[in-house]
Order: sequence, then structure tokens, then C-alpha cells
Amino acid sequence: EVHAELTGVKRVYPGADGGSVHALGPVDLKLARGEFYSVVGPSGCGKSTLLDVLAGLSAPTEGSILFEGREVAGRVPPGIGVVFQEDASFPWLTVQDNIAFGLRRAGTDAAEVDRRVSYAIGFMGLKDFRKAYPAQLSGGMRQRVCIARTLVMQPRLILLDEPFGALDAQTRLLMGDELLKLWRETGATVMLITHALDEAAMLSDRIGVMSARPGRLIADIRTEWPRERD
Ligand code: ADP
Ligand code: ADP
Repeated sequence: EVHAELTGVKRVYPGADGGSVHALGPVDLKLARGEFYSVVGPSGCGKSTLLDVLAGLSAPTEGSILFEGREVAGRVPPGIGVVFQEDASFPWLTVQDNIAFGLRRAGTDAAEVDRRVSYAIGFMGLKDFRKAYPAQLSGGMRQRVCIARTLVMQPRLILLDEPFGALDAQTRLLMGDELLKLWRETGATVMLITHALDEAAMLSDRIGVMSARPGRLIADIRTEWPRERD
């Protein structure tokens, strides 16, 4: 079953010199529901642009983007969760209030907020840090908070842009395991952007290789992992 589909998608930015930067495409891509897809490629090849247009954070210059059969247009649809490399949590809120933020803003009732936040805190191993502020945490722990913030919104498609890019190699390995656990338990479709081919190969069902100028998907590799989800 096709979960998200990009057809003939291009993104052109206005360039500093008055010309234009052809950042992406044309790209055709189908994500199957529940698959773990990674995109690898050199810096500047258009990976973030691909993620941004799929998420609805940036409009494509050309082409169509469907999520669950509906055109993604100009805003992040409910059902899509995004995690960035930069620590996106609010420094003035505690870990638990950061994780609750999106639900509260959406007007979710307090008991449901508590239930989902407790679950996400347990799931991401943040129990001892509920009342801490982001600045008191390590980089790895802060990324756990970011993933927990996405998890509570119960996304069906999770897009991650270099989520472990700022972490050391050992922490990255641990976070890779956390991401697999998240993928297994939520049943979500995952698209992970990474410059690390080893990370992509360890985690994904399928890897798209992107080349620069203009950013295009030039290879589609199936990892054929024999694995099951709960
Ligand atoms: P990657 O994520 O693979 O590093 P990006 O998608 O960030 O690549 O960028 C692709 C290309 O588009 C690069 O040449 C980058 O400089 C350019 N680009 C990205 N965002 C913008 C923008 N907002 N305005 C102009 N050019 C941009
Ligand atoms: P990444 O490689 O993680 O995508 P970049 O350095 O390419 O990081 O981009 C960081 C931010 O700057 C992004 O929001 C991107 O859209 C923007 N950006 C990148 N290149 C340009 C550019 N040439 N002009 C304007 N904005 C840009």
C-alpha cells in the first residue's frame, strides 16, 4: 500500500546572484506504508529539501506530493511528524512540558496528555529527567526528548533530518537502536535522512541514494533485512 507518493517533484530556490538554485528533482518516490526508508547523499545534494517538501514545510516548485491519498499543501498534515538535527525543544520548558507541548496546543484533554506523555517518557528512557530542562541534558538525551515530542502526536509517517548528526559515534549507535524500537512499536512509516551510509544500511528496508545538482534519486537499494515488527 502506497503511503506517500512524490511525482515529478522539483524545488527551485531563488539564488543570491539573481539566478536560481535547482535544489531538487525531478524526483519520483513511493513510500510503502510501514517501510523504513533512508536517503543518503553528499552535503548540499537536496536531502533536506526533499524532506521539507514531503512534510509540507516548503512548497514544491513543480510536481505532486500525496500523503495518504491527499495532496500535501503548504502545511504539515496531521499524521506526519518531523525530527530535526538541531535541538528543537524549548529551553524554558521542562522535559515533560516540552513533550506535552504539541498535545496541549492541540487542545487534548489533560488526562490524555498525561497518559501519552508518561508513555513517551518511559519509551524513550527519560524517566529520571522529567523535571529537568533541556540545557541540563546531554545531546543524546535532548534528541530523545525531540523524538518523544513527535511520538506523543502519534504520527503515521515520521521524517527525520540527520537526527543524530551532532552526536558522537557511540551515542549514534544507541539512538539508531531507539529509532528501530520506535519504528517497530509504532508501525509508522519512517524516512531517515543521513549522510552516513552505515547508519542507513543498519536501519532501513530501503535506501535512496541522492546525487547533487540537481538533487535526484539515482539508486534505490533494498536491504532485504529478514525482520519482523511487533
Ligand atoms: P542537503 O540536505 O542534502 O545538505 P539541502 O536540501 O539543504 O541539501 O540543499 C540543497 C541545495 O539547495 C543546496 O545547494 C543548498 O545550498 C540549496 N538551498 C537549500 N535551501 C535553500 C534556500 N532556502 N534558499 C536557497 N538555496 C537553498
Ligand atoms: P543541511 O545540510 O542539514 O540541509 P544546510 O546548511 O544545507 O543544512 O541548510 C541549513 C538551512 O539553511 C536550511 O534551512 C536551508 O534551507 C538553508 N539554506 C541552505 N542553503 C541555503 C542557501 N544557499 N541560501 C539560503 N538558505 C539556505
